[in-house]
Amino acid sequence: MSKLQEILDFNKSFVEDKEYDKYITSKEPNKKLVVLSCMDTRLTELLPKALNLKNGDAKFVKNAGASIMHPFGSIIRSIVVAVYEFEADEVLVIGHHGCGMSNLNVDKTIEKIISRGVSKDVITTLNNAGIDIKKWLHGFDSVEESIKESVGLIKNHPLIPKDLIVHGLIIDPKTGKLEIVVNGYK
Ligand code: ZN
Repeated sequence: MSKLQEILDFNKSFVEDKEYDKYITSKEPNKKLVVLSCMDTRLTELLPKALNLKNGDAKFVKNAGASIMHPFGSIIRSIVVAVYEFEADEVLVIGHHGCGMSNLNVDKTIEKIISRGVSKDVITTLNNAGIDIKKWLHGFDSVEESIKESVGLIKNHPLIPKDLIVHGLIIDPKTGKLEIVVNGYK
């Protein structure tokens, strides 16, 4: 059975059995929180459980490494919308130990891209067009520094109000224990 079919079969009984009932909520985040975190599979359920965040409590924004790649990219856009349209007043940037984006071997990733059939010329063309693929793929050397950078980017963004509180945290992907990197109240 395909993955999609498996999902559709499950989904059918999920809806029929009204399993959704316990998740019904509104689109405004009850706790007025935005959480920017990593797409790491270990955090999918662990992170909200470890922070006591239930359906309806927070807006979750995720990507590889919980890092903000561009001041006008989709992450900042999501935060801006959450702040102005959904009244979020605090942001938690949550990185984690053992992140796949920490010390990512970019040369190996490019090798994999080429071995999957993408022509070397494509990489060259993109590089010539000013898109530095290595820089674009590169994660970070230190999770603390990456979190501080993201917090700074949000705090100093021209479209972000000065009273928005932005915290930086690291979560242990095994135990869920949080460490504070930036306390947004200070
Ligand atoms: Zn990660």
